[in-house]
Amino acid sequence: MNCEETLALLDAYFDNELDLTKTLAIEEHLRDCASCRSQYELRVALRQRLKDPDLRYAIPGDFADQVRKRLAVSSRPATRILSFPSAVGFLSRLLPLRSLERFCMQIFNGCFPLDQHQW
Ligand SMILES: [Zn+2]
Repeated sequence: MNCEETLALLDAYFDNELDLTKTLAIEEHLRDCASCRSQYELRVALRQRLKDPDLRYAIPGDFADQVRKRLAVSSRPATRILSFPSAVGFLSRLLPLRSLERFCMQIFNGCFPLDQHQW
């Protein structure tokens, strides 16, 4: 197994997810390759550091209540936003067709201001 193959499988090896054949091939490569072995050792060190109890955060006793309260607040109905077709339909009932056309052109020109653009 070469370095590229080893690094591609290194996380799976680290998580003990490989079959015996690949596990043995990686172990053999790690014995002979300092570069890949250092990558493996970085994972070992990270896993060890993550076990540090100082990294743990104690969940407050009322955490579930806090979540429920926030969910209740955020589950209020959202402000209704008109979709583009319904907005055009709404405007067309208010404005005569020529005015609606001019209105749409002004919006278009506002979005795409081109000097050579003539209507
Ligand atoms: Zn290697």
